[in-house]
Amino acid sequence: MRHLEMLGVDKQTRIELWQHIVETIEAYIANVGQARVAPELDPEKVRSLLTPMNFAQPLDPREAVDFVVQGLWRHQVHTPHPRYFGLFNPAPTTMGIAADALVAAFNPQLATWSHSPFAVELEQHLLRTFAYQFGYDLGKTDGTFTSGGAEANHTAILTALAHAFPEFARAGIRGLDEQPTLYVSTQSHHSFIRAARACGLGTDAVREIAVDSTLQMGAEALAEQIAQDKASGFAPFLIVATAGTTNAGVVDPISRIADVASRERLWLHVDAAWGGAAVFVTELRTILDGIERSDSITFDTHKWLSVPMGAGVYLTRHRDILGQTFRIAADYMPTDAAGLDVVDPYTHSIQCSRRFIGLKVFLSLAVAGWDGYGTVIRHQVAMGDLLRRELEASGWEVVNQTRLPVLCFVDRQNPEGKSVAFIEAVAREIVSSGEAWISTTRLDKDLPVLRACITNYRTGPEDIRALVRALNKARKKFYGAKVE
Ligand SMILES: *Cc1c(COP(=O)(O)O)cnc(C)c1O
Repeated sequence: MRHLEMLGVDKQTRIELWQHIVETIEAYIANVGQARVAPELDPEKVRSLLTPMNFAQPLDPREAVDFVVQGLWRHQVHTPHPRYFGLFNPAPTTMGIAADALVAAFNPQLATWSHSPFAVELEQHLLRTFAYQFGYDLGKTDGTFTSGGAEANHTAILTALAHAFPEFARAGIRGLDEQPTLYVSTQSHHSFIRAARACGLGTDAVREIAVDSTLQMGAEALAEQIAQDKASGFAPFLIVATAGTTNAGVVDPISRIADVASRERLWLHVDAAWGGAAVFVTELRTILDGIERSDSITFDTHKWLSVPMGAGVYLTRHRDILGQTFRIAADYMPTDAAGLDVVDPYTHSIQCSRRFIGLKVFLSLAVAGWDGYGTVIRHQVAMGDLLRRELEASGWEVVNQTRLPVLCFVDRQNPEGKSVAFIEAVAREIVSSGEAWISTTRLDKDLPVLRACITNYRTGPEDIRALVRALNKARKKFYGAKVE
């Protein structure tokens, strides 16, 4: 029976292992707030930890687990830390952690319906639930869970191509008479540019439309570029509006962009990877007005719904388009469900063998409910507002305009406070102190800013004040060093 114990591990050891893992997870959740938020970055140190692991001597399960737990504790940015003010990476929900363990154990195969009817239908139920929240007509919607927003955006380009050019699936881009072009803003997520490469469109096919002073895509500039491209013999097929830019949380004027899309008969995709969660809160949902007119939507539940990575969603109101884009007959795939009114997920997705992504979303939503999520989202928006007030009271200038809790700021007190040198030095000081994690970015290419986002449902007023204290200290240090 030795072969069983190699991968299955004997029952007594298993029971002790589960218990140990539970205690490890609980200790992480309880104590991560006391850890340095960011580790020192030393590739040699990390590699030398791993070098002795040559797999010649089997380890005891607990020893192996403790090895990786120590590595993770010491060598990662603790995104679940309440002072991680970063890039939409949440502290995971408890139900999401539990769900991922269950999924690993049951290991449902979500390629075909017949292998996992419950899991597939549970995901379909969730997709309809989200589609309804975004204002889609339920009878006509379809969608798929994805690894994240990048895959959802890639799916959007592929479906828009299949919709505009029925011959694309067979003949590819080279079979088209006119070269397709798609429209994003200079503030859109870079995944569209990469997907354009992966689709064979090439990055030249991506038109980056200028944004106005509020960092929103200009609807007129968009219409002009489309007209110009048509006159030059290109074939525009897709417009992307962003609902909550990664840089600055800005929502494009969706309705005005939808007007352009319908006038030009182009596919409108709304990338609401992070900002989409605003639709679940009554007083915020109006910022997404017009999203119901889109042809497709990207929504990442592993961002503002705080589900563990990776859990993206692609939704569309074109019921047949995913099948037209992805369905390929394969003799070896199971046909047990032939004749039933069901869909095999692999015919609607870039992925084939697929993990049960939806369970962590389902269990999180089932336990928190809409009210629970509303409370969390409101709290995070309130923490964003508090941070804005505290920054301004300390002489920082917030330069982005959004109701969502992401702040881009510079120092208004000193002429140097807007320089790259200052911005980078302050961010480096904060990150290397281990007290908090923030980042830098550039707004519309040339304005360097500090960026802080409330991504963690555990972040409270004391964390906001600690960040502002750390910022003020770093600013003083920078100017102090100059004076000496
Ligand atoms: C995060 C993000 C993406 C990419 O999503 P991943 O889940 O990281 O693949 C796309 N668009 C926007 C606006 C995002 O914020």
